[in-house]
Amino acid sequence: MDAERKIAYFSMEIGLDDAMPTYSGGLGILAGDTILSAADFRVPMAAVSLLHRKGYFYQRLTEDGRQIEEPVAWSPDDFTEPLPQRVSVTIEGRPVTVRAWRYDVRGASGFVVPVYLLDTDLEENAEPDRTLTHYLYGQDKRYRLSQEIVLGIGGVKMLRALGYNNIERFHMNEGHASLLTLELVDEQVRERKDKAITTDTIAAVRKQCVFTTHTPVAAGHDQFEMELVRQVLGEHEAFTLNGVFCCDKTLNMTYLALNLSRYVNGVAKKHGEVSQQMFEGYKIDAITNGVHHRWACEPMQELFDRHIPGWREDNFSLRYALSIPCKEITAAHGVAKRVLINEVNRQTNLGFDKDILTLGFARRSATYKRGDLIFTNPDRLRGLAKEVGPFQIVYAGKAHPKDKEGKELIARIVAASHRLKDAVKIAYLTNYEMTIARKLIAGVDVWLNTPQPPMEASGTSGMKAALNGVPSLSVLDGWWIEGCIEDTTGWAIGHNHRHGPDTVDPAQDAEALYQKLEHVIGQFYNDNPKFCSTMLHSIALNGSFFNTQRMMQQYVLKAYY
Ligand SMILES: *Cc1c(COP(=O)(O)O)cnc(C)c1O
Repeated sequence: MDAERKIAYFSMEIGLDDAMPTYSGGLGILAGDTILSAADFRVPMAAVSLLHRKGYFYQRLTEDGRQIEEPVAWSPDDFTEPLPQRVSVTIEGRPVTVRAWRYDVRGASGFVVPVYLLDTDLEENAEPDRTLTHYLYGQDKRYRLSQEIVLGIGGVKMLRALGYNNIERFHMNEGHASLLTLELVDEQVRERKDKAITTDTIAAVRKQCVFTTHTPVAAGHDQFEMELVRQVLGEHEAFTLNGVFCCDKTLNMTYLALNLSRYVNGVAKKHGEVSQQMFEGYKIDAITNGVHHRWACEPMQELFDRHIPGWREDNFSLRYALSIPCKEITAAHGVAKRVLINEVNRQTNLGFDKDILTLGFARRSATYKRGDLIFTNPDRLRGLAKEVGPFQIVYAGKAHPKDKEGKELIARIVAASHRLKDAVKIAYLTNYEMTIARKLIAGVDVWLNTPQPPMEASGTSGMKAALNGVPSLSVLDGWWIEGCIEDTTGWAIGHNHRHGPDTVDPAQDAEALYQKLEHVIGQFYNDNPKFCSTMLHSIALNGSFFNTQRMMQQYVLKAYY
């Protein structure tokens, strides 16, 4: 059976199970959703990632919103099966032994896509090498490069050791996995008994590789000084081929993947265009992200089961959600909302009220996502709550341990919540992960998003919300440019940046947000049929399209075959 697998999917993070801390945010959740849809569709895929024994991190917050990070303790053998195979990679001249733990992703019809989580915590390895697969995105550049060697080079070797000898496509989910190209080059040289890397070698590798870029944010594109690369990875003939493997002084993982892939894509239409501008001379397509139907909350699943039988097997049929009666969607959402409100009150003792319009904002705390945009003019916010109608806001999200500004952003939001507490209740839930996400995304009434365009490559939490009948109030960036039909699937904040320049004036964006929020509050309290219709259109127009079932079909058509 392993010999029949044709596609290998590589990702530094994968969100598979609520209790496995093997992801940090959207990229990992997307990887998990992708693999689930591959399994549903019987795509002959195998996936590779790292074990991340200590996870990303467990987040606590102090009273004033300072983030405290702790390692996550979890037991891989509760979820995965250790395999006997061993392969070896060279790091700083030392051989490092790698093993894999197998996690089975089972699709709707029982088809399994195996995920191999690589692990270097073995007795035979030197002490520092044992920790290489402990922390997701942890420590310094040397650590990161070493992890990428384990993932890319160790990953290909492990697949071979497991008997995967007919892989036709290696899909790099972001540049973290780019070093797999180096191992494929070595394989080609060995197979052809060539004395050196030739244009044929490169062509043979290119034929096998597919690359998805996920962000226009510079920090998302790994670069390593060649000096460090030579120390950690060693010399390699490839490094003499300037323009293919590296660019003078640095090894840029994005360019490495671009140079060696037959197909490259961004993750939404606009992101495809932005990436095309960033990387001139490469052909960059777009496949818009989606979410797996695992993100539909239980009451919604039951509702769909009653009205749209077979919706899980065929997400397109969610289009028929328009025939669901208003009373029933409101009732199903009400159940999800009560679950969330209980969670908020249990965690924060803030006394959230199920009858009040509830906004949600939860995602990684990165500055470009501008979680505090809504606090630009606190008096305006107070005025809206007092004169138009009350609302409450639930926040959640972790800042990367090294991201000082992201941490300050959390502290600013928490400070604003204290200042505004007489007018607007604001909760910041700690340790945002899949379990909380599930409650939050389905339980709020409106999903808020205020990124600085064009930085939000796609965004996926708004898609999860749409699947649960929760409309978005969002800046037009990423997927929302495609998903927003004004006053039908939700509401746009500010102008459409699809083809024009992006705004840089946060005050203007904030004003646009207040104006639209005023409209939304009014509709929520005074025009229930219209609000209800917006909920149904979110499911019918966006839930039916922004899913990984459609996305996987596009990858199969455009990238894999
Ligand atoms: C969906 C999800 C994200 C990604 O949210 P974006 O809107 O794409 O930024 C991050 N973290 C968790 C836990 C999620 O479920």
